[in-house]
Amino acid sequence: MATKFLSPKLLNTLPSFTRFLNSASTAPIAAVSPLNFDEKPEPAAAEKQLTSLNEPTTTTTLDLYDHQKLFASVSTWKLVRSSATLGLASNERFVDFGMWVMNSRLMETSLVRDVILKTVKHTFFQHFCAGETTEEAADCVRRIHDGGFRGMLVYAVEHTGDNAGCDRNLEGFIRSVEFAKSLPASSVSFVIAKITAICPIGLLRKVSDLLRWQYKDPSFNLPWKLNTFPIFSDSSALYHTLQKPAPLSPQEELDLQLAHQRLLRLCRKCVQDNVTLTIDAEDTSIQPAIDYFTYSSAIMYNRDDKPTVYGTIQAYLKDARERLFTATKAAESLGIPMGFKLVRGAYMSSESKSASLLGYDSPIHNSIQETHACYNDCASFMLERIADGYDAVVLATHNVESGKLAASKACDLGIRKGNQKLEFAQLYGMSDALSFGLRNAGFQVSKYLPYGPVDMVMPYLLRRAEENRGLLSASSLDRVLMVNELMRRLKELQFACQVRDGISK
Ligand SMILES: Cc1cc2nc3c(=O)[nH]c(=O)nc-3n(C[C@H](O)[C@H](O)[C@H](O)COP(=O)(O)OP(=O)(O)OC[C@H]3O[C@@H](n4cnc5c(N)ncnc54)[C@H](O)[C@@H]3O)c2cc1C
Repeated sequence: MATKFLSPKLLNTLPSFTRFLNSASTAPIAAVSPLNFDEKPEPAAAEKQLTSLNEPTTTTTLDLYDHQKLFASVSTWKLVRSSATLGLASNERFVDFGMWVMNSRLMETSLVRDVILKTVKHTFFQHFCAGETTEEAADCVRRIHDGGFRGMLVYAVEHTGDNAGCDRNLEGFIRSVEFAKSLPASSVSFVIAKITAICPIGLLRKVSDLLRWQYKDPSFNLPWKLNTFPIFSDSSALYHTLQKPAPLSPQEELDLQLAHQRLLRLCRKCVQDNVTLTIDAEDTSIQPAIDYFTYSSAIMYNRDDKPTVYGTIQAYLKDARERLFTATKAAESLGIPMGFKLVRGAYMSSESKSASLLGYDSPIHNSIQETHACYNDCASFMLERIADGYDAVVLATHNVESGKLAASKACDLGIRKGNQKLEFAQLYGMSDALSFGLRNAGFQVSKYLPYGPVDMVMPYLLRRAEENRGLLSASSLDRVLMVNELMRRLKELQFACQVRDGISK
């Protein structure tokens, strides 16, 4: 159906997109705790890379394995604490128990709740979050910026069910933009927003149903619908909407208008304060409405060469490639620059569960290799577009292989260091090895920095716990690197003691 939107000329370019298909490796992921970003990039290495980026090359200098160099500025105490936190997060039994407690009625007892929240605050929260207040978050941004990184500011509210909650959340996002503006120039790359925080979630479900039905039946009229890019492709899962949905009631239409006005106010604020906004992707039951909000506001606010509004594409979805392709091409045909954050996706277990409950295939690729290949294809596609002067991308990944492939391709294409249209990003507290390596190679790297009260950030922390559990979890490589560095320091200490004892004898 997306093909209807595209001109034959644009369709002819489809093979050049599919040409990028490759099967990326299943390499484990690098992650280090938010150890210490005071380590400055080495000027010589950065300069060397800058020169080589000017000339097409097939090599990059991503050094992710020299733990001594990597953790040179990190105190031994910090190394111990971070590897212990990541080690706990990788313990499946511990994570299962933690999740059971968080979802149990124990949390309704204020004493137990206080103890649990305090424990979380001094362990996982400290590791994965920038702070509870804007002051704490500002310290964190300054620290990482001194170390050569930028911050993606995430006021970590999750979904809400009513307009009053949405209004409160909007004020939080607006304050985030003001906060970003108050920080040192270029220390903040993006302010992140979640549409579920500014539009009631029930309404997002309903709007998604209506959009899906219109995709199945283009004659189905949606009087409230604004101009948008294509939201679905022929491979999109439509099983969430099995029956023709009722139209929005007058109250729902009003609520939708209010939600739109919230997003537009946020976009205007971003334009006014020269801050770039990225909209997070969530689960497929509501993602069509999220894309609808994102694209309709991008059409209004992305101007000239600089996208103000970025969307997010989750490469674990079977329809990710086609949707990315049709959306970028539609934007191009309207002369609108588009930006995308490219992620694999964080709602894996809930997606599979809800599809199997309804008796449908999961919308997620059948194998992890297919997800890796999809991510790398999409990254390749976006890098080609940037090299051709279109669009912008944030390659948000902890996957070392994807990082290396993208860095190498960016060099091959001559995409220069400092090009505002290419950003790598990792979550704060994860994959610092990859972040340091990319930074040392001369790329722009951001850390995703959630901040807010501990209880508000809890759903985010639970997703991180899910991601880091298991032996081959997202933090496995960084844990190995940290332990190796601790062992090296221990041996060094032993040797120093032996030398001292030898001298004194
Ligand atoms: C800066 C940043 C922003 C982010 N924003 C978002 C966002 O807006 N929305 C969102 O959903 N996520 C977001 N994420 C989270 C991201 O989706 C997760 O980090 C992701 O799950 C991990 O992918 P990775 O690229 O780091 O690579 P890896 O760690 O290599 O990914 C491997 C993981 O992919 C999962 N997986 C995917 N497909 C399959 C499959 N077919 N079979 C088995 N396992 C599979 C598994 O859980 C596996 O552990 C963001 C991440 C970053 C770094």
